Amino acid sequence: MKKFILIFGPQGSGKSTQAKLLAEHLGYAHVSSGGMLRDMKDKNVPLSEELSKYWLKGELVPDELIQRIIFQTFETSKDEGFVMEGFPRNLLQLNAFLDFVHAHDWMIVRAYYVMVSEEECLNRIRKRIEIEHREDEDEDSLKKRLYDYYSKTVPVIEEFEKMSLLTRVDGEDTVENISSEIKSDYDTN
Ligand code: AMP
Repeated sequence: MKKFILIFGPQGSGKSTQAKLLAEHLGYAHVSSGGMLRDMKDKNVPLSEELSKYWLKGELVPDELIQRIIFQTFETSKDEGFVMEGFPRNLLQLNAFLDFVHAHDWMIVRAYYVMVSEEECLNRIRKRIEIEHREDEDEDSLKKRLYDYYSKTVPVIEEFEKMSLLTRVDGEDTVENISSEIKSDYDTN
């Protein structure tokens, strides 16, 4: 039975770092929907040109397309456990994912919300824009993505809370402290 752990947090919350650390700790695969899109573009996969029209501007890619990519990854992977970030990003994707997991008799074990204030996220990403020059990050796309995050992804996180699967962690603590908090929560749950 495949197991899924989901990591949520706004842009700049450090969710990706935390997802990688937890995946390493558990020996699970780390899956990042945004990372997959960037890899597809680097490898010039045929569909990637159409997809990059959206994400390069900071817009969400169509649900159907991202779902197809993500679900295919899980179906073909030999891994038994996944720590995923970036998906599901809205309620439609959440419902599709819940149906998908149930249809396979797989299991969502836990969801973590790495909480960072909007102001701190803006500061962190502005610094990242100066240093990394990630091609989909500029002031305009940042604002769009944060707006989408609060209007579309926070309702998804609230659903995990209702399912009693959610743990919130303070994303403004150190990387090490956040990571140990997540690991010990996971180990005791
Ligand atoms: P991220 O690295 O998670 O910030 O994702 C980078 C970009 O990829 C986002 O701004 C979106 O355009 C796109 N993306 C990633 N995951 C999804 C998703 N689940 N649904 C729609 N678009 C996504």
